[in-house]
Amino acid sequence: MRISTILADEKVRLSCEVFPPKKFDGIAQASEVAREIAALKPAYMSVTYGAAGSAPGHTLAVARAVQEAGVTPLCHLTCVQSTKAHVQQVLADMKTAGMENVLALRGDLPADGACCRDFTYASELVEFIHTQGDFCVGAACYPEGHPECPSRMEDIDNLRRKVDAGVDFLTTQMFFDNGILYNFLYRCLRAGIDVPVCAGIMPICDPKQVKRAVQLSGSIMPPRFAAIADRFAHDPQAMAQAGIAYATEQIIDLVANGVNNIHLYTMNKPWIARKIVENLSSIIHMG
Ligand code: FAD
Repeated sequence: MRISTILADEKVRLSCEVFPPKKFDGIAQASEVAREIAALKPAYMSVTYGAAGSAPGHTLAVARAVQEAGVTPLCHLTCVQSTKAHVQQVLADMKTAGMENVLALRGDLPADGACCRDFTYASELVEFIHTQGDFCVGAACYPEGHPECPSRMEDIDNLRRKVDAGVDFLTTQMFFDNGILYNFLYRCLRAGIDVPVCAGIMPICDPKQVKRAVQLSGSIMPPRFAAIADRFAHDPQAMAQAGIAYATEQIIDLVANGVNNIHLYTMNKPWIARKIVENLSSIIHMG
């Protein structure tokens, strides 16, 4: 099913992100993780592309496992290090596998700056995808502004250009302070960006994740969460419990304020997704 169709009504829904393995022999295990999360019946599941060292070619394999488990898959696709011919082949393979949804991303710039110059921005990929078939296309957005962009206003202008290129829905970078999302949604509305925005939530259950999440996302860690991390960093079980509770509260506040689409960064941990779903069983109806 097209994600734009899934997001068309006012239902409160949860979607989940998984990532493929680094090596080919990890596909079976990653697919099993995907199936366990799919059993919770999220609205759809996204599968990352080449992120955190995972092999780009494995996205489709894990997306197939999601599809076979009866959940709509969303395949991520990055472009900054790919030729048009390569992207064209990936999209053809997705089409053959019956994939209807693509999250169009630029990808992070390599440290040595050695990019293939066929694509510079995700907006160019969005346009290109539409020339290759009838895909539903999503894109990324950054409530705190993309780290490379000098100002949030400029970032919103760039986002509007990306949406105008043919984006059906947006997924946010993780954030830990809902006020930042509300402010961002207001700026989107003022800029005329009116596609559905899925709010990305990452439950931080491991103290090592705190630093990494801040580095990856450029997210501001609110003092309330920093205190939790300080207090429970030495005790993994307590940290996991507090991290789940924090993310649960964040989601309840979002839903209470009319944000209906929550996207959970599961870190490939089915138990995290399960706990969140259990905590919200009367607030978010799965399936
Ligand atoms: P763009 O939209 O191209 O924006 C990149 C920068 O360029 C921004 O600063 C923007 O303001 C600026 N810009 C855009 N257009 C213009 C213009 N016309 N002129 C001047 N400046 C412009 N990475 C992966 O490798 N694999 C994944 O699977 C993956 N999944 C992600 C999922 C989500 C929900 C998010 C939020 C991020 C994900 N990323 C992933 C990370 C992403 O690739 C990086 O954040 C990357 O640095 C930017 O990608 P983008 O698609 O947002 O880029």
